[in-house]
Amino acid sequence: MKFRKLGRTGLEVSCVGFGALPLPGLDEEGASVVLNTALDCGMNFIDTARSYRESEELVGKAVHERRGEFYLATKARTRREDQIMEELETSLGFLKTDRFDLYQLHFVNSEDDLEDVLSCDGALSVLKKIREKGIIDHIGITGHDPDLLMKAAKTGEFDTVQGALSYIEKPQAALDLVEYCSQNDIGFIVQKPLAGGAIVNARSALKWILQHPVSTVIPGMMLKNQVIKNAAVADEDYSLTGREIDELDGIIAGLDKDFCRRCYYCHPVCPENIRIGVILEFFGKARFPENIPVGRRWYRDYKINASNCTECGLCMAECPYELPIIDLLKEAHVLLKDPQGHQDPQGHQDPQGHQDPAK
Ligand code: SF4
Ligand code: SF4
Repeated sequence: MKFRKLGRTGLEVSCVGFGALPLPGLDEEGASVVLNTALDCGMNFIDTARSYRESEELVGKAVHERRGEFYLATKARTRREDQIMEELETSLGFLKTDRFDLYQLHFVNSEDDLEDVLSCDGALSVLKKIREKGIIDHIGITGHDPDLLMKAAKTGEFDTVQGALSYIEKPQAALDLVEYCSQNDIGFIVQKPLAGGAIVNARSALKWILQHPVSTVIPGMMLKNQVIKNAAVADEDYSLTGREIDELDGIIAGLDKDFCRRCYYCHPVCPENIRIGVILEFFGKARFPENIPVGRRWYRDYKINASNCTECGLCMAECPYELPIIDLLKEAHVLLKDPQGHQDPQGHQDPQGHQDPAK
C-alpha cells in the first residue's frame, strides 16, 4: 500500500481507501469480511456517512476493535446546531468511537447551501466548536459540483474536499479543483471513481485517478476479492497501457447518450422536489442486471420518486446535456419500482443484492 498526505491534516492515508456507502447491501458477516480485508490490505481510511443507511453501524460492529489502525471519516447532511449534535452523537454510537479524524459537511450542492454553511451561525461554525472539544479533528466538505467545491476550497475553511472524478467524468473544473487542493494543502478525496459502475475495469479506473495529485480514492466495495484487487492497484505503476486507454475510451464512446452526469443542475427547479440525478444514477446502475436488486432497495425509500413527475419540463431546460428527463424518469420508475415481486430481465428478485449501486 502507498500512502499520501491528506492535505494540511498531516494524516498519511492509504491512496486507496474504503468507501462504505454500499455496505448496507451486505449482512454483518459480509461487511466484517470486506472491512477487515481492507485493513489487512493496508487501507487505513474508511469513509462513511450518517445518510448511508446502516453503513456506520456495520463499520462500527466490524472494526471498532481495530480503531487504532484506520482514520475514520463520516459526514452529515444536517445544518442546524441541535441536529448536528444529534447526528454526531448517533454516528459516534454506531461507529463505537469517541472521535472522528474527519467530519464532513455532506452534499453541499447549491450556492444557497454553501452560503448557509459558511454563515456566522452556520454548520461550519458549529463544527469548529465541536472540534475545539476534541470530538472531531478535521473538517471537510463534500459535493458534486466542482465549481461550487472550488468556491468552498478557496475560503480556506476546509481541511478536505470530497468530490467525484473518473476517466469518464473528468470535467476541467474537477481537474482544476484537484490541482487547487493539491497546491493549497487541502486533502482531496475522490468519490465515484468508477462513474457509478459505468467503468467495469476498476484497475484502470483507479490507476488513472492515482496519476493525479489526489489524497485518496474511495471506491465502494462489497466483495473481498474487489478489496484485494483494488488495494493492489496502489502499488502498481499508474500509467495506462494503450489497450486500457482504448477500453476506457470505448466505454465513453459506448455510453448511452442519455447518461446522467449527476451535476444536479436540474434539482433546484423541480417543483415536486424530485431528486432527478439521484434517481437517474440508480437507473444507470440498474442497467447492469446485477445492480437491479440493490437499486430497487434504495429507490423504495424515496417518498418522492419519479412517479411524482408532473411533466412540467422545467428540469429539461436546465440540463446541460439535454437529456430527455421526463422519459428517463418514466423508464426509471418502471425498472426500479416494486421491489417485491417484480422480475428483472435476468430474473433477480432479491432486494438484498450484493453489488454496489454507488461505485
Ligand atoms: S418535468 Fe418532472 S422532474 Fe422535471 S421539473 Fe417537472 S416535475 Fe420535476
Ligand atoms: S438530468 Fe441533466 S441536469 Fe440533471 S443531474 Fe443529470 S445531467 Fe445534470
